[in-house]
Amino acid sequence: MFDFWLSIKDLPEQGQEFEVSDQEVWTVPIREFKIQARITQNIEARFFIYPGQNGYLIRGDLRGAVKIPCDRCFATKEIGLEATFELFEELEPAEKNDFYGQSFLRFSQGLPEINAGAMLWEQFLLAQPIKHLCSDNCQGLCSKCGQNLNLAACTCGQDEPDPRMAIFRNLKIET
Ligand SMILES: [Zn+2]
Ligand SMILES: [Zn+2]
Repeated sequence: MFDFWLSIKDLPEQGQEFEVSDQEVWTVPIREFKIQARITQNIEARFFIYPGQNGYLIRGDLRGAVKIPCDRCFATKEIGLEATFELFEELEPAEKNDFYGQSFLRFSQGLPEINAGAMLWEQFLLAQPIKHLCSDNCQGLCSKCGQNLNLAACTCGQDEPDPRMAIFRNLKIET
């Protein structure tokens, strides 16, 4: 994780805007966690932090583009990232132990700081599509020979037995 703490002391009541475009916030954990992703369009995060009675409201967005491999055929495809986020960092958090509920707030010598590196890495992960497919009808790779079936057919399919013979095949003794 890229260590990047943002000092948020003396925020004006109407909030303060922050912009983060240091790519290391994302490239360092991509390398660290060996994630198959390459940033192809600089990622930029822009967010407001509003001070409140019980904590800090953080609201912003994240944009950029990454190239990631298709889940089926492993061809890389560029996807645009465009996500908004909103979170609340409580001054005295109740017990939190799930990943998404982790606190990004700490006090260093009494002064509040936000773990912007971890927060923006989490937002990067949340901005990813659940499935990465090069196209909705990606044929994937042949499970026998590894041929990319989007590019060309392979000959493995020719061994496919005649479906009309299925009834006899089911009688075959297993070897
Ligand atoms: Zn694919
Ligand atoms: Zn094949």
